[in-house]
Amino acid sequence: MEMCRKTLLEKYFFIFVFLIFFISIPKILYGYFYDIIYLETSGYYSLLRGFSIVFIAGSFYVTSLSPNSLHPYGYSKYLKMGQFLVALGIGIISLFLIGHSMIAKYSYHKVPFIDMSGYIIVLLSVIFYLLLIYFMKKVQFSLQEEKKYNNSNNIKKEVGLTIITLIGLVGIEHGYFFLDVVLSIFFFSFLVKETLSVIWESSRFLSDTFSLDEKQICNLVNSIDGASECHNVRAHGTDSDLYVDLHVCMDPKIKIIQTKPIVEQIESSLKASYSSVRDVTVHIEPAKKKGNFI
Ligand SMILES: [Zn+2]
Repeated sequence: MEMCRKTLLEKYFFIFVFLIFFISIPKILYGYFYDIIYLETSGYYSLLRGFSIVFIAGSFYVTSLSPNSLHPYGYSKYLKMGQFLVALGIGIISLFLIGHSMIAKYSYHKVPFIDMSGYIIVLLSVIFYLLLIYFMKKVQFSLQEEKKYNNSNNIKKEVGLTIITLIGLVGIEHGYFFLDVVLSIFFFSFLVKETLSVIWESSRFLSDTFSLDEKQICNLVNSIDGASECHNVRAHGTDSDLYVDLHVCMDPKIKIIQTKPIVEQIESSLKASYSSVRDVTVHIEPAKKKGNFI
């Protein structure tokens, strides 16, 4: 299964990159050269969203470099750091470029000019976006990623944004230049939100912030026959990819070989209860008096 996914990603990775650039770069260039700032802004927004998909699709390249293929955790940290830097970079660079375009436009009183190619670029970009979704469906993304990048809400959102973009073009063509300002603010808020959410998400990964309830986990572990006094629960990773370790006490009289099925049951029940848990490490300690564990 994993192998199959890798081959698929290998096959489609460059198609993703290609499509993402064709969705965003023409809008940026057209907006820049024709003084339509909202189009430029929406282009940066598409580019940033596209990069998130490139990072997911490219993750196997990076994690396959890991000497320990079962635990490419450190390598996925590099990947998240890359994503963090790209989001920050696109955020800052687009802010400067949009600001620059805006100052140039208003200080030289440039009048936006729209011709047929503007409409063609916007329509092509939505076609490329739908193609991207189509190819993404062929690759088995994890459920979390599927939900985030690939569901029908995203398609509706993209179509909605395209309609707004087209209305803006028609309006500006007919002399309603204020639409450029209004839509620039509109798309700029999307851009800022996306930048911050990528930075936030990758920071959570980099800082090992997670959302597992220790008490809930211990209740689950303690309910398993032979295991008691679960404590020191730690987890690192992301919400979708979590590595957990914990301490658990067992009767000192039982033999090591007898602990194996208990440990296996702890692992499997945690994985079954939390879809995000990828790996569990259990430290066994001999049971002592309550409250006296190490
Ligand atoms: Zn302990």
